Amino acid sequence: MKESKVESYLHCTKCKEETPHIIIYINNEIKSVECETCQQKQEIELNIIKEFYKELYNRISTKPSRITQEYKQDLNHFILSIPKRVIRKPYSAVKYINSSRKIIKNYKKK
Ligand SMILES: [Zn+2]
Repeated sequence: MKESKVESYLHCTKCKEETPHIIIYINNEIKSVECETCQQKQEIELNIIKEFYKELYNRISTKPSRITQEYKQDLNHFILSIPKRVIRKPYSAVKYINSSRKIIKNYKKK
């Protein structure tokens, strides 16, 4: 899961002109758009857990079905228990999951 920031000129309804906007993406979905001139911010309702689910499902779909079964039953619990499961996985996988969990945590705070 990846959070990225893109700057772009868009029409702002408050400034009534083209202004620089900061667009935040989570994976390929827009999360928020903010006008840098007047700070008017539009949050896009994004189902962060669904995004994570979608992405993770693709990554683990080659694993035994037991995991996917549990995963469907209790997604939150599954996310919390991931670090124990991936302990023998390569560093990159652990790093990936940790950063995704951080994004989810930050997103839920708002
Ligand atoms: Zn504006």
